[in-house]
Amino acid sequence: YDVLLAGLAVDGGLYLPENWPVFKREDIRAMQQMSYAELAIRVMTPFLGGRIHESDFAKIVNDTYHSFAHSAVAPLKQLECDIWLMELFHGPTLAFKDYPMQLIGRLFDHVLTRRGERVTIVGATSGDTGSAAIEACRDREAIDVFILYPHERVSEVQRRQMTTVSSPNVHCVAVEGTFDNCQDLLKAMFADTSFRNTMNLSAVNSINWARIAAQIVYYFHAAVTLGGPDRQVSFAVPTGNFGNAFAAYAAKYCGLPVEQLIIGTNSNDILTKFFETGKLNIGTVDQTISPSMDIQVSSNFERFLFDLYGRDGIALNNAMLEFRQAGILCVGDKLQAVARDTIAATRLNDAQTMQEMARVLDATGELTDPHTAIGIAAGRLLKRPGGAPVVAQAAAHPA
Ligand SMILES: *Cc1c(COP(=O)(O)O)cnc(C)c1O
Repeated sequence: YDVLLAGLAVDGGLYLPENWPVFKREDIRAMQQMSYAELAIRVMTPFLGGRIHESDFAKIVNDTYHSFAHSAVAPLKQLECDIWLMELFHGPTLAFKDYPMQLIGRLFDHVLTRRGERVTIVGATSGDTGSAAIEACRDREAIDVFILYPHERVSEVQRRQMTTVSSPNVHCVAVEGTFDNCQDLLKAMFADTSFRNTMNLSAVNSINWARIAAQIVYYFHAAVTLGGPDRQVSFAVPTGNFGNAFAAYAAKYCGLPVEQLIIGTNSNDILTKFFETGKLNIGTVDQTISPSMDIQVSSNFERFLFDLYGRDGIALNNAMLEFRQAGILCVGDKLQAVARDTIAATRLNDAQTMQEMARVLDATGELTDPHTAIGIAAGRLLKRPGGAPVVAQAAAHPA
């Protein structure tokens, strides 16, 4: 329950499963016949550790994904001969965050109601996370939600998605400042132990393990739709906080045959540079046309580094401490080579992103949002010639 409700471990680390479930080929083949909800239950059940009753979990998952606007939930569209687009915008706020968040809202409510507890969820957002969290938590009995966003720095659609919800448990605060200022206010609230305890504060940001677990599902769904495990696929993921990309990596860990993992960043390219140089080096945040990826410190990347350091928690902790103090983390040539073998990365600036949007529209008739275009371009540029088909994702609806 703490993994679900607290998100961050008390020592400041991130949760990961001690042992990963590994699905065998025949298990994966059986998923070809399953609906999205059935597949979600199958993939996530090993992560529950028996803490939520099977029939309750099935009901929650069915409820969640039957409320999505497309009956396939995450349908695939063939974009070009070897590129497929997985549409992840069929939830209520039109970006992929709904896929984990709609489930998490229900899981929180279920667990808290059983325990007779309430929580106050606080969040800072530059857009997608806030509206997805609000839609997921509105009208839930055991939850109050407070979202801080930077005044006049979120898109008008998202401002309205957040501020026109009339549910009494939803509260939005426009902060005169930047996203980082919102984030600082949040950190201060969590650092104030007595406030934190009286309010029973909780966060649903992307470090929450349950969110990652729920995102693993759509990678399995896409792969089996295209003939997995008998046909390999590659995934191309636009990345900011590395949550969505980590879920693709985790799917592979769970036995899914994946040929290449490809990530694309915008000009905030700290992760792309890491794969090029073996160094994580914090810079300043650029404002781009793909704001959900305007991030320098990708909080989920620590999960990937944990594996890179051979699952040595102490070594990783030392490296992270140094990173926090000096703003730089260096893994050395050997580990850099391992990282590059695992993940291929590239970057697009705004001009290149717009070019890709125009190219895709021209070539396929498909209108894409900037985040989506970055993923498609990364897939196209880094795909091995003659390799497996690439599943890129429509991370948000173009509107
Ligand atoms: C959140 C988000 C991203 C970045 O995902 P991470 O998990 O933070 O890497 C990319 N595109 C869209 C549309 C998003 O909402």
